[in-house]
Amino acid sequence: MDTDVIVIGAGLAGLQCARRLQRNGHSVSVLEAEDAVGGRVRTDHINGFRCDRGFQVLNPAYPAVRDWINVPGLKLQKFGVGAAVNTAEGTSIVAHPLRHPGLALSTLNSKHVPASDVRALVRWIGPTMLRAASAWRAAEDQTLSASLDQTGLTGRLRRDVLDTFLAGVLADSSGGKSANYVRLLVRWFALGVPGLPQKGMQALPEQMAASLADPVLLNTPALRVEETSGGVRVTTEHGVLRARLAVVAVDPQHLADLTDEPSPETNGLTTWWFRATEAPRTGRFLVLDAARDGGGPAGPVWNTAAITEVAPSYAPPGEHLVQATTLLDRPDGLAEEAVVRRDLERLYRTPTQDWELITHHVVPHALPAQPPPLVDRRAQWVGEHTLVAGDHRHTGSIQGALVSGDRAALAAAELLAS
Ligand SMILES: Cc1cc2nc3c(=O)[nH]c(=O)nc-3n(C[C@H](O)[C@H](O)[C@H](O)COP(=O)(O)OP(=O)(O)OC[C@H]3O[C@@H](n4cnc5c(N)ncnc54)[C@H](O)[C@@H]3O)c2cc1C
Repeated sequence: MDTDVIVIGAGLAGLQCARRLQRNGHSVSVLEAEDAVGGRVRTDHINGFRCDRGFQVLNPAYPAVRDWINVPGLKLQKFGVGAAVNTAEGTSIVAHPLRHPGLALSTLNSKHVPASDVRALVRWIGPTMLRAASAWRAAEDQTLSASLDQTGLTGRLRRDVLDTFLAGVLADSSGGKSANYVRLLVRWFALGVPGLPQKGMQALPEQMAASLADPVLLNTPALRVEETSGGVRVTTEHGVLRARLAVVAVDPQHLADLTDEPSPETNGLTTWWFRATEAPRTGRFLVLDAARDGGGPAGPVWNTAAITEVAPSYAPPGEHLVQATTLLDRPDGLAEEAVVRRDLERLYRTPTQDWELITHHVVPHALPAQPPPLVDRRAQWVGEHTLVAGDHRHTGSIQGALVSGDRAALAAAELLAS
């Protein structure tokens, strides 16, 4: 045998799996198809700007992040907890009243936050806040939109804020995701203050990879995984590796290439990165558009943020970086740059013709679709010597990927010890 375990895929799930196995005394080789670790958590460096490959944030309240990541080492730069909500009349801030007490009164008096919706929101999320996060395993599930309707959360807080915010976070504007999955995400948003690492989101997987005894084998896609009598044989372009076990920690769209498991459906989005000529005045809050009649965005942009107001390290000194997110489940998800730019002009109420498009990332498989019921696929064995890990086995999130990788490692360690 070349090693105890071959981990295929150096996303968060694969890296956490390898770290746990190594800590338990097992030898591990990690194969990664791409030229760097991170999978869906990568950062491009372009002329001094850091552009994550798809806008995303790190929530330090995720239990897996708290337990396994050196968060201070990432030097998180924190968002405001709330949103700047845009309508035809202007932009107003709706903020977490405990995190931003100075904005509590204006938030509670805002037309976006009717008291009946606040009561309904408490009914919707309250039980998830009070119970252990794992309680969702036993809870009944339905689609997000059916669940919000049933709770009576149907007013402006839903239309102007929640639906738009969640569509951007979930890369899905249909409301069809598992309500239990979304409850979990909202729970963690309520408990934490998300931010961006000083060196970009890729600093997270890089920190994880740095603790491995052997470097990840980059540019080494696994082509085939075969079970043998005493273990597995993994074929790569550079030869064959043998191990007692394999953990297939690839993205959802590549799962079926290496296993008999179907590839889970996914949702996608596009992130546009602009160099702005001056700092937009929305501060550290995510900007949501509620300008369409009946709520929701009036253009292709579902959310946007003045990234350098939160994370100055994402641009050279004095420069301003803005992200805008469009959704691929909408016809305008791949809108022309000029259309996105015009939309940003409306949202920021400032001319944008001189803003420079630095890059844009089309991410067709950002998150597993995760329809109800949310299934905690504990059984990760797909063969006698082969396990599967990844966010699609738990919840589409950083938390889900880390937990899934850790769990695969524990299952592998049990077999190795027997
Ligand atoms: C745009 C975007 C925004 C997001 N926003 C958030 C957010 O704000 N908060 C949050 O919690 N989560 C967010 N997520 C989700 C989170 O990033 C993912 O859930 C998580 O990174 C998935 O990790 P993973 O290890 O399961 O899979 P991946 O990151 O997809 O890793 C799989 C790895 O396997 C490799 N691979 C594939 N095939 C092979 C092969 N044959 N051989 C070797 N290697 C292979 C891939 O190259 C990849 O590196 C977002 C994701 C995206 C894309």
